[in-house]
Amino acid sequence: MRLVLIGPPNAGKGTQARKIEAHYDIAHVSSGDILRKHVADATVLGQRAQGYMDRGELVPDDLIIDLVNDTLESTDIEKGFLFDGYPRNPVQAEALDDFLLEKGVTLDKVIYLHTDDDVLIRRATGRRICPICSTVYNIFGFAPKVEGVCDRDGAQLIQRSDDKEETVKRRLEIFEEQTAPLVEFYELAGLLLHIDASGTPDDVFDAVISELDQG
Ligand code: AMP
Repeated sequence: MRLVLIGPPNAGKGTQARKIEAHYDIAHVSSGDILRKHVADATVLGQRAQGYMDRGELVPDDLIIDLVNDTLESTDIEKGFLFDGYPRNPVQAEALDDFLLEKGVTLDKVIYLHTDDDVLIRRATGRRICPICSTVYNIFGFAPKVEGVCDRDGAQLIQRSDDKEETVKRRLEIFEEQTAPLVEFYELAGLLLHIDASGTPDDVFDAVISELDQG
């Protein structure tokens, strides 16, 4: 399986990527995770990327393309792979094509997760995370028993800086402007699978697997 996963912020890309990776035993390459690690480690690159990430904007192509290509060089993509959050615009899609061409491989499918903007906004703005045990709550669904406090360890829950409403709306605009053209690009290439991402993680995963298994 050689896959790309695209979708607007909060469509559940990370959750589905982890399930797909485990199901097919393939390499999972998440550009967002790679960037967050650089930010956490306060590398030069992380410091350069952080402002863009906090504003909900895409980090510059030269930075992300080099970063992903470097990661791919040290990743076992022979057994199959899933790119999550990359490519995010046509320039990155071309860079990925070039990389894969050089390696002599092609993409099998591009999974496009989509749902309504109001669902995406509620998922993000309702999310609260425990800084101690990383449990993820949602005040509109899976709320903690006491507002703002982790059920497990009593820690004060926090909101990710890019989950604030203003940033979420900005990320959606950026998706429409820069990433949505990829949907058409991969549709024309006959690679696109449309998946409704409004259900539970298990429902969405079942839909992905059944589409992929149909070939
Ligand atoms: P994600 O976890 O994929 O939603 O990514 C979080 C943030 O990292 C995004 O809002 C961007 O600022 C940045 N980012 C992740 N992947 C890319 C990419 N392929 N190109 C540019 N910026 C990216």
